[in-house]
Amino acid sequence: MKRVVTAGLKACTTVGVATVVVFCGATAFAQAPDTVLVNGRILTVDAQFSTREALAIRDGKILAVGSSAEMRKLAGARSRVIDLQGRTVIPGLIDSHLHAIRAAETFATEVNWIGAPTLADALGRIRDAARTMKPGAWLIVAGGWNVQQFKENRRPTQAELVTAAPNNPVYVQLGYGWAILTPSALKALNISSDADVPAGGRLEKDAGGRPTGAISGGQGAIIALFDKLPKPTFDEQVDGTKKFFRELNRLGLTGVVDPGGNNLAPEDYQAVFKVWREGQMTVRVAYTLCGQTPGAEFAEIRNLVALMPQGFGDDMLRFNGLGERITAAMNNNPRPTDADKEQYYEIVKWAAQRGLSLTMHWNNDASVGQLLSIFERVNREVPIGGLRWSIAHLNDASPATLARMKALGVGWTVQDAMYFGGEGYVQQAGAEAARRVPPVNTGTKIGVPIGGGTDAHRVASYNPFTSLQWFLDGKTVGGVAIRGAEETPDRAAALRFYTLGSSWFSFDEKKRGSLEAGKLADLAVLSQDYMTAPLDQIHNTESLLTMVGGRIVYAAGPFQSLEVAR
Ligand SMILES: [Zn+2]
Repeated sequence: MKRVVTAGLKACTTVGVATVVVFCGATAFAQAPDTVLVNGRILTVDAQFSTREALAIRDGKILAVGSSAEMRKLAGARSRVIDLQGRTVIPGLIDSHLHAIRAAETFATEVNWIGAPTLADALGRIRDAARTMKPGAWLIVAGGWNVQQFKENRRPTQAELVTAAPNNPVYVQLGYGWAILTPSALKALNISSDADVPAGGRLEKDAGGRPTGAISGGQGAIIALFDKLPKPTFDEQVDGTKKFFRELNRLGLTGVVDPGGNNLAPEDYQAVFKVWREGQMTVRVAYTLCGQTPGAEFAEIRNLVALMPQGFGDDMLRFNGLGERITAAMNNNPRPTDADKEQYYEIVKWAAQRGLSLTMHWNNDASVGQLLSIFERVNREVPIGGLRWSIAHLNDASPATLARMKALGVGWTVQDAMYFGGEGYVQQAGAEAARRVPPVNTGTKIGVPIGGGTDAHRVASYNPFTSLQWFLDGKTVGGVAIRGAEETPDRAAALRFYTLGSSWFSFDEKKRGSLEAGKLADLAVLSQDYMTAPLDQIHNTESLLTMVGGRIVYAAGPFQSLEVAR
């Protein structure tokens, strides 16, 4: 490119008008797209939610969108033209709250129950893993499933796990409240009585007083229990990270905002850092940091962030501030003490002074005022409006809360928690309250920035199409419709949450999240049309071709031959 320009200029000055034409021709050639997609149904997710036929890509960015004829005209001799044969293209999906770094680390060494329709199927995955993994390897299901997804509508028994994998220790976790272990797993962890179980947990007993192999307890107990399990080796973590990102690409995801969280220490970031150093990232990751030690969080965070300015990194891996468990005392605590709040205030005020973004986990509207009061106090001293702080979860956000968030410039990351937890929520809060959970249409009207996502992989599936279908039908995995029409977005709005909406949380809405000229060419060609597929089939959608920055990172079916050897 540089050489062409220099030669052209030189020719211009010495030879004159005739050469200018050559120069312009050379420039046009140099600017021809690398790739042109034609004959598609391209959902641009621009301001008008317009649909286009074709799109041209050059140097990782979208050069233009338009009709197939227009885009073909731009193509040069070396442009690759891909005929979409009428298929639907969406901007690459972005999960605004996915514990991707943690899920990735163990993806190659865990057993995955995501989407298993029956317990028999799930147990079959344990059986298969026992055959394919190293002899005697731990078989760990770290979450991502619930009882209602199984036709049998129940948890596994210890005997079933032993039958599935007689020669491996097996550990199966359900959310953050229950786990079951086989006898060899209990033995390996030296657990034989309640005294051996982390504080707050206990061994479950059957009617006859015999241990069932299960451990139940609070979140702290289950997190501590999980930390006792052997960790994958570093090479396994790197392998898992590449495989997990590819799995996300298969489902049309090209970006995540990682909120840090439980069971994630600084050393756990090393696998994704290695993949980034090697230039092998296929999902853009905006990551956050947590404090680790109760009471010592401020010192830890200051130390971690000392040489890490907000936004440090590049478009594949970028530091995005603090989250989602800033202090242990404020984590999942609806009744923090004044001291807890003061400690939290000191940290987030410091974060505001440093220009750091921040995301905070909060469950219920009833107690979120305590968090918002702190944010408002900080905002009076150091304006936070431009920092894109956010609150995750908050499924029952009231209009008053959403208005306070809007006034502060605080965004809301919304997950499909009710897909697994809807029945429980109805029992606890009643069917009427459940009709407005989560109130995304009210949030949109008030003007709160909203991102889509899942909170995978412990408490949810990472499948974005499961989440998109849930946005639209409000149904739990058990098939119970709990949300009313008033808070149900249409297909365009739901897709917007999962693309442009999510991109806001890492300051990327001008770079990605929609398919418009000048933006990064992150996109997915879908197996079915998201806009017209039967509602109850949306969860079956997959990508047939996923691009990140114009590079093909996943290709299947009719496009399989386009995949570059990995
Ligand atoms: Zn959370």
